[in-house]
Amino acid sequence: MPGDTTEVNINSGGIADHTYDAIVIGSGISGGWAAKELCDHAVRTLILERGKDVKHVQDYPTATKNPWDFKHRGAITQDLKKNNPIVSKCYAFDESAQHFFVKDADHPYIQEKPFDWIRGYQVGGKSLMWGRETQRWSRFDFEGPSRDGYAVDWPLRYEELAPWYSHVEIFAGICGNKDGYETMPDGEFLPPWELNCAEQHIKQKLNEHYNNRHLLQGRCAHLTVPAPIHIQQGRGQCQARDLCARGCPYGAYFSSNSSTLPWAGKTGHLTIKQHAVVHSIIYDKQKARATGVRVIDSQTKQVTEYFSKIIFVNAACLNTNLILLNSVSDRFPNGLGNDSGVLGKYVAFQNYRGLVTATLEGFKDGYYFGRRPAQCIMPAFRNIYRQETDFLRGYLTFAGASRLGWNDGENETGIGAEFKEGHTEPGQWGVYMSLQGETIPKATNHVRLSADQHDQWGIPQLITSVSYDQNDESLLKDFLTQAAEMLDKSGCGNIQQTDTKWAPGLDIHEMGGVRMGKDPKTSMLNAWNQLHHCKNVFVTDGACMTSTGTQNPSLTYMAITARAANHAVAELKKGNL
Ligand SMILES: Cc1cc2nc3c(=O)[nH]c(=O)nc-3n(C[C@H](O)[C@H](O)[C@H](O)COP(=O)(O)OP(=O)(O)OC[C@H]3O[C@@H](n4cnc5c(N)ncnc54)[C@H](O)[C@@H]3O)c2cc1C
Ligand code: SF4
Repeated sequence: MPGDTTEVNINSGGIADHTYDAIVIGSGISGGWAAKELCDHAVRTLILERGKDVKHVQDYPTATKNPWDFKHRGAITQDLKKNNPIVSKCYAFDESAQHFFVKDADHPYIQEKPFDWIRGYQVGGKSLMWGRETQRWSRFDFEGPSRDGYAVDWPLRYEELAPWYSHVEIFAGICGNKDGYETMPDGEFLPPWELNCAEQHIKQKLNEHYNNRHLLQGRCAHLTVPAPIHIQQGRGQCQARDLCARGCPYGAYFSSNSSTLPWAGKTGHLTIKQHAVVHSIIYDKQKARATGVRVIDSQTKQVTEYFSKIIFVNAACLNTNLILLNSVSDRFPNGLGNDSGVLGKYVAFQNYRGLVTATLEGFKDGYYFGRRPAQCIMPAFRNIYRQETDFLRGYLTFAGASRLGWNDGENETGIGAEFKEGHTEPGQWGVYMSLQGETIPKATNHVRLSADQHDQWGIPQLITSVSYDQNDESLLKDFLTQAAEMLDKSGCGNIQQTDTKWAPGLDIHEMGGVRMGKDPKTSMLNAWNQLHHCKNVFVTDGACMTSTGTQNPSLTYMAITARAANHAVAELKKGNL
């Protein structure tokens, strides 16, 4: 079988030239962190990245462009939209940032059920275009499965991860307010952005009407005031331009490109190979361990192998599933480490279908400085201390208020001079609340490999079979009702409830398929993110997640990765790996 390896493909140099202490697959948020931690401990690390290089600052071609510098003022053309029905649904895919996104035709996959798979194949992965919302998961997020018995229990708890959250927050630079709520634990924060006058009003009204619905300033990966560790990384203060998905010339938001990768590079222990599509992981039955990785050059299609003592798989959730499923051998005919049959199953996502908008009268003399690249956030308040609804788990609410366009609504009048006059005043206040709901991992929500359809490198295409269920519908209904009620109690009018009908995937928070757990019969990874049945392979991206929680996931990927990488270093030193 292809994965049982005694045959070796080396296309240049010898085996020694292709041998490292560690291989990291993928250079996005989690891969960048794996490489940084390993290199900080003098572990010779090779990153294999399928995409092209993106050098910090010099490869951000649109970062300082004005709207009029773009042919279509930043909007995407009908042609681009027509040719990219999937990725063009992503809010950040526009004329200014589209070069960082995977185009539909380049990397096809098979949707057994609608699933919008949004990807970034380049050095830095999606860390270049991400939304940078970075809350810690609370103990309630980790306890969800043990509370109601759906999905397996996490093999770790908030308290074990807390020091690693601190570790990554300090280095990455997370801003926020210490609010003191256990549903959204505080961290090591840089100064927060401020709530504007309308948001402060809504916060106060909600506090008057509810005792558990707290509107907070979101925690996000922006250097509001850089600390010495950020200056050392060559990063500077955020200018509140909100043009982040183009790449930030100040390095003011966290990305692999501005932070972890250059840091790891400076240790002298990092090698990055671009255009290196990982086909599979090589397993040696005699040694009972993974020995390396089989790679296809994306341009020449040449096949090469690289070898190492440990392998971190950080290709982002679904590609990590794909690589493991494709790593078949005599010992593991159903995918690497897959004795349990769980691989590819229990894929979950976050429910983004709810949106409630409104307007708020008054506050006409209130405005705000710049374009704050952050929004407000309300920690989960449903089913926290007891099961109180007809659906399981809960949801986080994003919110914000801003002056509507300079010729919108009430100012939208006239032609000629009157029209121009209308542009001199901002519109009334618009308010929104949107949903980020937990979904329950189920065996039926899965991904698998196509038996007959392959990509241009001969790798089987991924089939996604992931959908909503009744729990998601009930949760959505509750959000729409509660958000409308909250805006009503805050004095808002023109309240509109919308089911966005977003397909799974468009949340870009897909998780699972290689879940952590205590029992090797029902999970793939142990508490240190090692495959139960192949301990020198670590999975620390979204694929490892046992449940989805209500918070954004990427800060947790960073903390889990740093923790696992430090464990790997300790085990390497003991000679256990
Ligand atoms: C518009 C947008 C907004 C978002 N907002 C937020 C947010 O506010 N908060 C949050 O927590 N998350 C957010 N996310 C999600 C966040 O970007 C991801 O969770 C995060 O990037 C995942 O990190 P990763 O390392 O797993 O994957 P990625 O960052 O995607 O990196 C994976 C890397 O692996 C490479 N790769 C894939 N397959 C292979 C292969 N076979 N061989 C070699 N290399 C491979 C890819 O090219 C890529 O570079 C957002 C994402 C987007 C696009
Ligand atoms: S808002 Fe801040 S982080 Fe975003 S592009 Fe501007 S300066 Fe950079």
